[in-house]
Amino acid sequence: MLALVGQPVGHSLSPAMHNAAFAADGLDFVYVCLDVDPDELPAAVRGLEALKLRGFNVTMPHKRAMIPLVDELDESARVSGAVNTVVIEDYGLRGFNTDGGGMVMACQEAGIELSGKSVLLLGAGGAAAAIAVAFGKAGVDELRIANRSVERAAHLRDKLHGKGMKGLVVHHLDALPDAEIVINATPLGMKEEDPIPVPAAYVREGRAFCDVVYRPGTQTPLVRLARERDVPVVAGDRMLLYQGVLAQKLWTGREPNVKAMDRAIS
Ligand code: NAP
Repeated sequence: MLALVGQPVGHSLSPAMHNAAFAADGLDFVYVCLDVDPDELPAAVRGLEALKLRGFNVTMPHKRAMIPLVDELDESARVSGAVNTVVIEDYGLRGFNTDGGGMVMACQEAGIELSGKSVLLLGAGGAAAAIAVAFGKAGVDELRIANRSVERAAHLRDKLHGKGMKGLVVHHLDALPDAEIVINATPLGMKEEDPIPVPAAYVREGRAFCDVVYRPGTQTPLVRLARERDVPVVAGDRMLLYQGVLAQKLWTGREPNVKAMDRAIS
């Protein structure tokens, strides 16, 4: 058994996505949603371990709170301060963050080359940090971070410097520098009335956009504008798909059935 631990979790596409792959490949797993109060997270995690689940995903608001509850952390979880995937082993809990790797795979699928490119990252929270680590590994040349709170962007820049990444400059959201790839890693776009996270004129030919936000059944304003202007764009549901693919691979040790997972969320 596998689970998603969060609050709320009722709207999640993850059970449909994972269970479709298990059914298609005849795997003896089932993925369920567990609504867990923040106060109850440590007790819930001990319960999942006692029940010998193979692992679980973690979503809002628990990603940060999972950090002290695992025995091992991968680099992405450590730098981002957020765990989205846990593997339960006999010897303890292993915490991972597959969000950044998911965005890298989504870019590959869209034909967006990352190596040698200049990237502007909007946001400096958990998703932004996980993407920064993964994009660094994928060979981006320069990563600039723009965030509402400049202090938080500076904090992320300092953590990434410690990982040997180069060219990190902090800009406030009001003064956007040029970049070949722009990533929205803020929640802007979750609501239809949200402004797009960059001035509309910034969405133009010569740039590619990636949006972490996904809205089942509809497009975010950023994705809609980019498509209208024929600008390459990766929508948040592709990142969702591939973070799930990476998580499933960690649990099962085999290549997930990506087509079945994709069909389940499309
Ligand atoms: P987080 O740690 O709370 O960080 C949120 C970031 O967005 C911060 O940098 C924050 O700036 C900024 N922000 C928040 N509200 C803003 C606003 N109104 N205007 C400008 N900036 C704003 O959250 P997270 O875990 O990184 O998640 C961010 C988004 O990514 C969420 O919508 C989440 O659902 C989505 N996500 C999607 C996937 C996927 O698979 N597609 C995976 C993970 C996350 P300050 O530092 O100034 O507060």
